Amino acid sequence: FAGNNSDFLKGVVAMSGLPPADRMEVCFAGRSNVGKSSLINALTGRKGLARASNTPGRTQEINYFSLAESHYLVDLPGYGFANAPLPVVEKWQRLLKQYLSGRASLRRAFVLIDMRHGIKKVDEEILSLLDNSAVTFQVVMTKADKIKAQEQDKVLSQVRDKLAKHPAAYPEIVVTSSEKGGGIATLRAIIAKLE
Ligand code: GDP
Repeated sequence: FAGNNSDFLKGVVAMSGLPPADRMEVCFAGRSNVGKSSLINALTGRKGLARASNTPGRTQEINYFSLAESHYLVDLPGYGFANAPLPVVEKWQRLLKQYLSGRASLRRAFVLIDMRHGIKKVDEEILSLLDNSAVTFQVVMTKADKIKAQEQDKVLSQVRDKLAKHPAAYPEIVVTSSEKGGGIATLRAIIAKLE
């Protein structure tokens, strides 16, 4: 997918705004600051592409990107904001549930987890939602360059233990570093192979 054939398409605030389900799509979720924009940019080979989704006002939208004219890449807003107003959170959760349970072309959700922190309580909420929506999800560890291999093993075994409790979890964990490029080709290959 490398190259400049990825583009921001649109921000969606209601199910009626979704593009036609004419391509396979994958979505990316993760708590704020997990490194989601950096990963999307590394994946598409376009620096700054995913920045649009991080600007204020865009944070409650489902952001659609085209990926190599064959897939949609869907950027779900970062979760875990401490002080978003409740009605905003509720409206967003409704849309997220509708999207996850009603999007036939959604092939897989990638849930980003910070290599330094492992799976936290805020992450568990989205994992349960994915279980309940029967959307296969795969964990992508981010910022692997920030910790040593030995510590990585510890976090990975914690993540494996937690994933064992989630029926929708895909067992293989992808370890990435957007900074150093590690794991990006693997992730690209995983998406390309989805059917
Ligand atoms: P988002 O809020 O999830 O979109 O997170 P960003 O992509 O904006 O990243 C949050 C911060 O983490 C930024 O300062 C990034 O430079 C940094 N970051 C993201 N990915 C990596 C990585 O792989 N390695 C390192 N060392 N820092 C990263």
